Amino acid sequence: MTTENNMWALKNFGRIDIKPDEFDRAIYQKGARAIWEKSMLCSCLDEHSGQSNFGCPSCKGKTFVYFDANEIRAVVSGLGGDNQNIPIGLIDVGTAYLTTRSTDPVNFRDRITFPDMLTSYSQVLKYEGEPVEMKYKAKEIVSVRVLNTEIPTTAYSISEDGYKLEFLPDTLVYGDRFSILLRINPVYIVIDMPHDLRGTFVAFGKPEEEWVNLPKQLIIKREDLMPLKRGDV
Ligand SMILES: [Zn+2]
Repeated sequence: MTTENNMWALKNFGRIDIKPDEFDRAIYQKGARAIWEKSMLCSCLDEHSGQSNFGCPSCKGKTFVYFDANEIRAVVSGLGGDNQNIPIGLIDVGTAYLTTRSTDPVNFRDRITFPDMLTSYSQVLKYEGEPVEMKYKAKEIVSVRVLNTEIPTTAYSISEDGYKLEFLPDTLVYGDRFSILLRINPVYIVIDMPHDLRGTFVAFGKPEEEWVNLPKQLIIKREDLMPLKRGDV
């Protein structure tokens, strides 16, 4: 054995390796349920102008299409340095950290929905006959108003799939604008991956080190607070 080998052997003495499995297990145990959808560019995008088509039936002008929904577990924490899992408290904050298991390759622009959490969402809609389509699936309708006048809850109902509002006759006239306040499952988009290349060498007494991937920490932002154009985030 050369002197150099001896030197490195000494450097490995007392080495403490991270156990990736334990991180993954902790994320599973402490994490929240999350529906992870992969994202990709929509083919309606004009690569020269960077514009997508607002009338696109696939992405509705959002540039990205989402597919392949999978349920995963992920730990959510606020950007304020608090690493506690605070599923409800973070909802009003537009941006949060998300830590996913090393086995779930969640990536830039992917969409994450939290099925066990609720948040508020408000939208302005135009009445052009039945039914009126909402952007998000309503778990509950808190209020429907024309300016400050509340439409009685008996005058409308939510469709079975949760995406449409249906009004009783003569509640609204064609062209009326109204606003809604909903309770929805919060929907986030991955806007940054500060540790995209995160991993470590482990040895655990074996002669050869092995490279393993570690859980990823991502920055997510509420989809309804995202700018629409590509490159704005
Ligand atoms: Zn499109």
